Amino acid sequence: LALGLAACSGGGAGSSTDDASGAAGGDGGGQLVGVAMPTQTSERWIADGDAVKAGLEEAGYKVDLQYGNDDIPTQQSQIDQMITKGVKLLIIASIDGTALANQLQAAADADIPVIAYDRLIRDSENVDFYVTFDNYNVGVQQATSLLVGLGVLDEAGTAVEGVTGPFNVELFAGSLDDNNAHFFWKGAMDTLQPYIDEGVIVVPSGQTDIEQAATLRWQQETAQKRMEDLLTSTYGGGSKVDGVLSPYDGLSRGIITALQNAGYGPTRSDATPMPVVTGQDAEIASVKLIADDVQFSTIFKDTRKLADQAIVSGTSFLAGEEPEANDTETYDNGVKVVPSYLLTSDIVYANNIQALLIDSGYWTAEQVEKGQ
Ligand code: BGC
Repeated sequence: LALGLAACSGGGAGSSTDDASGAAGGDGGGQLVGVAMPTQTSERWIADGDAVKAGLEEAGYKVDLQYGNDDIPTQQSQIDQMITKGVKLLIIASIDGTALANQLQAAADADIPVIAYDRLIRDSENVDFYVTFDNYNVGVQQATSLLVGLGVLDEAGTAVEGVTGPFNVELFAGSLDDNNAHFFWKGAMDTLQPYIDEGVIVVPSGQTDIEQAATLRWQQETAQKRMEDLLTSTYGGGSKVDGVLSPYDGLSRGIITALQNAGYGPTRSDATPMPVVTGQDAEIASVKLIADDVQFSTIFKDTRKLADQAIVSGTSFLAGEEPEANDTETYDNGVKVVPSYLLTSDIVYANNIQALLIDSGYWTAEQVEKGQ
């Protein structure tokens, strides 16, 4: 599964690192950079790791790339070892954003700059820079696509007259130790709340707090189980689910499986239609589900661009300069506001898979057709 994107993203990074190597003067002088990624169970992190590694190597650096297997002690010891090996820069996508303060102190003591990659590292003054997407807006986009799927908004975001619901919606959030999960949730709930207040959207389970909606470590099986429990506890009497806010494609697939096992779908055009299910990451299996009219939407965050940005920012540090930020207000990690570079994301629907994902070379048409 992962190979398609890894290969494709590696290629993308390779072709677009000209900028990065330009910024670095193409001469990393063989210095070692440590890159810590959270897990290989999701394609995006494999693609991120490959793209960051390829770009840094092209710019003349050596790279120690490690995956933490979603296990906090594993990631901690990987970073400890990178510091021992003498890396000159750390690029870290954390598993638990609150669990790396000791590692970051050791890095600071050794004058190693630290870039938080995609996920903010919290509770430490030793985070020097943050490269990510506009995570609040990702949540806004997820909720917007849910409203589009329900027919409340058109794709331009304009209210459709006369659509008053009520629509039954259930809400899922990500892992609470991932700072991003809170931003996605806030963006989504700020967008949905007016519709909840007006009664256009109802949440029949009553589970509207992030703690109730959370999914530890973003696990697909956990989301599937919670959806099964919601169907049993809340929809036994014949009422139907119309929509599910899901913040990540892996969770969406678990949710879809639970719904299909309970008699929904299999597609959105069947007699008991698959509810509107959102997502994030444009994982190939989910892009296929969108093309096949099963999942409704996902959010495309171009990991090739994030990798390039990490390389541009990282090579600034290595050249003894401060990287350029485009946001110095949003990401307070509990100790300080971390200067950040935010990228933008796009909503993917069935009708723009071609334009957003295939034309940009993120996936091939064949991969979308096969779902792998
Ligand atoms: C990332 C998302 C991803 C999620 C689960 C988040 O921190 O920003 O892109 O879907 O983790 O891996």
